[in-house]
Amino acid sequence: MNFEASRSKAIEKLNNFIEKNLSEYSKLRNFDFGPKNRSNISCLSPYVTHGIINENEIIKKSLSKFPFSKIEKFIQEVLWRIYWKGWLELRPNVWTDYLIELNKIREEFKNNQNYLNAIKGKTNVECFNAWVNELRENNYLHNHARMWFASIWIFTLELPWQLGAELFMKHLYDGDAASNTLGWRWVAGVQTQGKHYLASEWNIKKFSNNRFSKIKLNENAPPKVSEKTYSIIKQDFNNPQNIEGKNLLIFENNLSFEITDFQNNKFKKVHLISNKNENRSINFDEKVVKFKSLLIRDQEQRLKNNSIDCEITDISEIKNIENSCALYPNVGENLDYLNLNNIKTDFLFRKLDQYSWQFCNKGFFNFKNYIPKIISTLS
Ligand SMILES: Cc1cc2nc3c(=O)[nH]c(=O)nc-3n(C[C@H](O)[C@H](O)[C@H](O)COP(=O)(O)OP(=O)(O)OC[C@H]3O[C@@H](n4cnc5c(N)ncnc54)[C@H](O)[C@@H]3O)c2cc1C
Repeated sequence: MNFEASRSKAIEKLNNFIEKNLSEYSKLRNFDFGPKNRSNISCLSPYVTHGIINENEIIKKSLSKFPFSKIEKFIQEVLWRIYWKGWLELRPNVWTDYLIELNKIREEFKNNQNYLNAIKGKTNVECFNAWVNELRENNYLHNHARMWFASIWIFTLELPWQLGAELFMKHLYDGDAASNTLGWRWVAGVQTQGKHYLASEWNIKKFSNNRFSKIKLNENAPPKVSEKTYSIIKQDFNNPQNIEGKNLLIFENNLSFEITDFQNNKFKKVHLISNKNENRSINFDEKVVKFKSLLIRDQEQRLKNNSIDCEITDISEIKNIENSCALYPNVGENLDYLNLNNIKTDFLFRKLDQYSWQFCNKGFFNFKNYIPKIISTLS
């Protein structure tokens, strides 16, 4: 598996996938054929997470080749990310509570042998060990493997989901506060209360294409229970007026200024914000740190090629940037940094998010009904 840190490589991957594999996506997407054979899925998430390419671009390109009915499943998946984001934006305490719980549980489990064996891939579940190694080596796992992994972690190894979500965030190139936290909560059964995802031997055997068998799992565990419920916090995601001439802050989730809604505005200077491990609650693996920093440099180069004044700025320096606005960093560590340090800046929201997030008050099943409307608004 190779994720080269550049927009040109991301576009190449997207074009290639649309040309050769998209037509078979809905039939084959659930199979995890192993890290050497990933052509049945797009492997775009490390790029979409960083805004190197975006949902708008992916959907429009896909629809220019196929009718909606033929690729509906793929479009749904692409929009899951926006749905999870919107869901978390409306309930940001789910993220803050997660970090508080994680801090506490980390301390409780730091010498727990069951936990230490799991993160080293030394359990008695062979497929799980293989995925731990794959996660550490490739910084990516197939979606089905993520579901199996999380389910085994929670229900067979009986470890807290919060620690599993942390391991994913540390190692995934696409690590994302919304998709990851809510993905783990969903498997545990606390996202949709009472509904959990239980991995089973037959399912792993079939969808791993018989790469794994004789798997002893707890296939009857009840869902986890949480007494916490989260009601929606009403927010408006309106854009400010008069942004011309301001300094623009870009965080790691929007690293392609040239495809944003604000590409035609004139900013004084663009600051590409780098947030290293010192200012994070969850520290990234070295390879993830490097991947992010190469993506930032790739964006810097593209801006310079377009004669846009820009520089890479450490997050600790934001306080010194006056008269700024920022492409919205979303609920997650960068927004936490701004809030904790009382840094005020105007946020610029994507039109696609502004429109879609109003449909994130309920489940994905409901959100799906609005997909044709959402697509019709794509510019
Ligand atoms: C426990 C768990 C943790 C996860 N953590 C993350 C994470 O940190 N970051 C992340 O980007 N995704 C996460 N996912 C979602 C999903 O597994 C990945 O987005 C997907 O595997 C990426 O591979 P792909 O690009 O080949 O996807 P494809 O199948 O080709 O799908 C195309 C695009 O759709 C989006 N997408 C697909 N499935 C999902 C999904 N279930 N949720 C949200 N978006 C989706 C992604 O942007 C993806 O690039 C998690 C899922 C689970 C079950």
